Amino acid sequence: MATADMTTDATPQVDCPSAEELRRLARGHLTDARQAVLTAHLDRCPGCQGRLDEIAADGDKLFTGCMKKLCEPPAPKDSAFWDAMSEVEAEVTGTTPSDMAGNTSANLSDLKLDFLQPTDTPGRIGRLGAFDVIRVVGRGGMGVVLAAFDESLQREVAIKVLDPQLKSNDTAQHRFCREARAAAKVSHDNIVTVYQVSEEEAAGLPYLVMQLVNGETLEDRLRRIGKLSIEEAVRVAMQAALGLAAAHEHLLIHRDIKPANILIDAATNKVKLTDFGLARAAEDLKLTRTGFVAGTPLYMAPEQARGDGVDPRSDLFSLGSVMYESLAGKPPFEGKTPLVVLRRLTDETHEPLHKLNPEVPDWLEDVIDKLLEKNPDHRYQTATELANELTVHYACLKPATMDKVEACPMTQVRSWRSLVRSRSQRKFVSLLAGTFLLGSVAGATGMYFLRPRGGASSEVALAVPDLGPAELNQTDNLKAGAVWSLSPSPDGKFVAAGMEDGTIKLWNLNGGGVSDLGKHDGSVWSVNFTPDGNRVVSASGDGTVQVWNVTSMMMEKGINNRIPVRSAAMNADQTSIVTGDATGMVKIWDIESMGPLLPGGVPDKPRQEFVHRGTISAVAFSPDGTMVASGSANKTAILWDVKTGKAVQRLIGHEGPIYSLAFSPEGDRLATVSWDHSIRIWDTKNGDLVKKIENAHEEGVWSVSYSCCGKILASAGQEGLVKVWDIDNTEKPIRVYSRHKGTVHAVHFTAKGTQLITGGRDGTIRLWKVRD
Ligand code: ADP
Ligand code: MG
Repeated sequence: MATADMTTDATPQVDCPSAEELRRLARGHLTDARQAVLTAHLDRCPGCQGRLDEIAADGDKLFTGCMKKLCEPPAPKDSAFWDAMSEVEAEVTGTTPSDMAGNTSANLSDLKLDFLQPTDTPGRIGRLGAFDVIRVVGRGGMGVVLAAFDESLQREVAIKVLDPQLKSNDTAQHRFCREARAAAKVSHDNIVTVYQVSEEEAAGLPYLVMQLVNGETLEDRLRRIGKLSIEEAVRVAMQAALGLAAAHEHLLIHRDIKPANILIDAATNKVKLTDFGLARAAEDLKLTRTGFVAGTPLYMAPEQARGDGVDPRSDLFSLGSVMYESLAGKPPFEGKTPLVVLRRLTDETHEPLHKLNPEVPDWLEDVIDKLLEKNPDHRYQTATELANELTVHYACLKPATMDKVEACPMTQVRSWRSLVRSRSQRKFVSLLAGTFLLGSVAGATGMYFLRPRGGASSEVALAVPDLGPAELNQTDNLKAGAVWSLSPSPDGKFVAAGMEDGTIKLWNLNGGGVSDLGKHDGSVWSVNFTPDGNRVVSASGDGTVQVWNVTSMMMEKGINNRIPVRSAAMNADQTSIVTGDATGMVKIWDIESMGPLLPGGVPDKPRQEFVHRGTISAVAFSPDGTMVASGSANKTAILWDVKTGKAVQRLIGHEGPIYSLAFSPEGDRLATVSWDHSIRIWDTKNGDLVKKIENAHEEGVWSVSYSCCGKILASAGQEGLVKVWDIDNTEKPIRVYSRHKGTVHAVHFTAKGTQLITGGRDGTIRLWKVRD
């Protein structure tokens, strides 16, 4: 069925194909060459687009063909399919209910709420079951959404009631309830919680009680403000992806991800997906009532539009379209008619996003392009994968850390990849309008659940994400035994490594290879670049600390501690070094008074000494230099006040030796990792345990590092894995790198926080990309 404006210019012109040829085109019976000519013609000719639309909705053989295809295997007797089909049939024979034709947007003044019972409560518009209805909040294809008050639980709820016009439609009723129950199975912070499904007794109307989201839809917000900021677009997409991941885990595909189904809570800014399993049912009914025009498939995945069946990756395509629109102000594929949109989205590449919004960073455009891949195999394969990708970038984008963004720059230089796009295979979809019909009717059959092939549900198994390898570079085995410690230079050009055989290696990341900076007489447990990048401080089992000049490659100063030193660190203003040794002593040394190393002589005298006990594996200065943290094999960490020399906080709780610790960039948190497999985050002010990731690694945790923006954390484990954690939000790994062969002893973010360096038992140093 054509819209009014299409029929007016649908008269064939001289070079327009005949109706028979259009029919053959729609059935895919033309040669490739002729098909190409007609496709090009259709691009220019709205008249023929309209004619093709009509052919598709004509109730002719094509339609019968669609039905045949849909009927294999036959739909069960009680399937919504039969109702949907009779709707379609009524449609094509011209019995469109006039009240539903045209715009699908809610016309609230038309609303009949006569199914509500009267109420005495002032300010309420009626009663529904046990609920006092406060106001109408929206209207959809299946019914109306009301805000109401639940007296028993004293809370506001949203109630979606089946449209009274559909109440005699048993199938619609069943579907409403069945799908509502399905949605109720998923419980996630980013999905509207469904509380109950009931029926209004007097009128026999089913209704769905759910969490009320006080706020607006993303559609409303985009209408109001045009585009979202980069930060907000990433946040909305990240949360939507997390919601989708939860749904997919329950084998539930949303199938109608679009701005209107993404609610944003005004108070918390939290994103909630709505319309699970309901929206498509509603949409299908709308479509059939309005001549296939109302439900423009703006966000549909190509495979969905073609009626090829959907899987979780179709939702990801839709989310990609939503992200594109959030940043461009318009969806990636538009057109006057569904047919045009369909053809574009199956056949054309979207306009590069940076052309519409130059502020979009390169990495984000790459993410969206990947989501909009025509071939589902080329997209992100799971919503979790997408959520992880967004989370790792978002961590350094948040407004709260904007002052840090300079230190964590998001590159604005465009990569060649975003300029040279692989054009998706040009594949003409033979059914065109017919496929849209097919797609929408297939939707009405209620195929909301993934049917695991062969009884297995591996398609949507959301295991721990192994998101490596994003490896950029690695050294050969350095043939110096295990790598025990690592430090990136502040300018990102070098990595210093402390080796088991006592050498200190310097790896030039710009292709300059690895050289020996110096040598100890025992394993180098700790190396650190000085903040100015000119020197490296090393600590060794040989009982010394040495300071090496990176330019002259000479040792300049040293400390003779005699007892093996497991860890040494310098303060930010480069005046002091703190060391932790094998007898449980924490010592602070003045750099000024340090002289050349005199091995074998009388041990040097520190400025201050604190008694911690146990072997001290890790020491660090707080960023402002006022505190020192030490972590011991006796399972405790201590925060020392440098001025008074007092232990200000004793951090007790680990069930194994502490191997590594790191202050957050702000100094308000201390991360500790232990042989007990856990990562713990402590409040440095009051010593409270703020977070605990119990089994962060399967075995002991050797090393921990904070990214420069303090929102992500990296850890290295005995089992050989390196994990990057969203420590601020989900407390879940967002990257897992598994390429090291054997234990990873050291992990460190580079100064910009965009890369990681790791090293361990296999004697190699590796560089990983965490984000752009
Ligand atoms: P449809 O997609 O079929 O139009 P929806 O279920 O999305 O129907 O509901 C219609 C409108 O009602 C939404 O666009 C939204 O504005 C509002 N709405 C839906 N669910 C909620 C909810 N849980 N809280 C607040 N408003 C809601
Ligand atoms: Mg909706």
